[in-house]
Amino acid sequence: MGSLAEQIRDLAAGAGYTRCGFTPAAPFADYATALDRRIARFPEAARLYENMRSRADPRRTAPWARTIVVCIREYGKYRLPPQAVGHIGRNYLVDCRTPACPDYGMAREMIRGLRALGLRVKKGGVPDRSAAVRAGVAAVGRSGFAFTPDAGSWINIATWRIDAEVPCDLPRLDCPCPVGCRACLDACPTGALIDDFTMRMDRCIAYLGYAAPWPVSDELWSQMGPWVYGCDVCQEVCPLNFGRWTETEPAPWLEAVAPLLTLDALSTMTQETYERAIHPLFWYIPKNDLARWRTAAHRALASRR
Ligand code: SF4
Ligand code: SF4
Repeated sequence: MGSLAEQIRDLAAGAGYTRCGFTPAAPFADYATALDRRIARFPEAARLYENMRSRADPRRTAPWARTIVVCIREYGKYRLPPQAVGHIGRNYLVDCRTPACPDYGMAREMIRGLRALGLRVKKGGVPDRSAAVRAGVAAVGRSGFAFTPDAGSWINIATWRIDAEVPCDLPRLDCPCPVGCRACLDACPTGALIDDFTMRMDRCIAYLGYAAPWPVSDELWSQMGPWVYGCDVCQEVCPLNFGRWTETEPAPWLEAVAPLLTLDALSTMTQETYERAIHPLFWYIPKNDLARWRTAAHRALASRR
């Protein structure tokens, strides 16, 4: 039998994760400092940042935690139906929290396996990107997204706190951005990327699309262009992502509803169709949100004329 690190890495690979590393469950002082700076600079968004503060100390909600296991899921492998691309963020289309997605069981398999190793386990509750950097499984680019050399930023980070010491055995990855590149900052439609590594959550379309108070201000609404839910602009213009969406696997659960994911279909969708076909893909948002989708689809259609 191998070391605990080897057993956990085997487990992660078996569940479908492509990278796995470890970092002590020690506080993330830099993350807490970054939150303080953003709150001071953007007091109007303070509530959003305050909600993230508890993650800075992994032991605050799990005093027994000794190590954070950090894994990478690559989702650029899926062949997305063209009807859905360009107005719904890719990350949301292949969300592994959606039961129909083939990756749905990965996190549960990991938890089961960690428990079978006799470990106490708690999922999440840490700053994922900071943990990934500290564990050596990803680096953060100027867009604020986490990148791996193989998959670009088309990744999700999954974390688990465990009650055993596992040494951090991977070197940290350097910031992958070429000198002088600022393609993401220049392309951001709403000016959410205001500085290197600094994104204003309250201006990001990913937040404005469904979590922000409704209605969105006229200024931001007019800048959201074709995006209805999520936004891929800063990732699509990033040279580190060129050629990283590999499309090696089909996405049958999306193909089945692809005709309903067009802007035209969304702009006239009935509540019955929304509940039957669309909401199951985005089950974590309210069922009564159809008006928001329809209105956004109308605005998106108008932006293309
Ligand atoms: S997701 Fe879109 S709105 Fe948000 S930071 Fe990136 S480009 Fe800007
Ligand atoms: S677009 Fe350029 S600056 Fe932005 S994350 Fe990609 S490589 Fe870095």
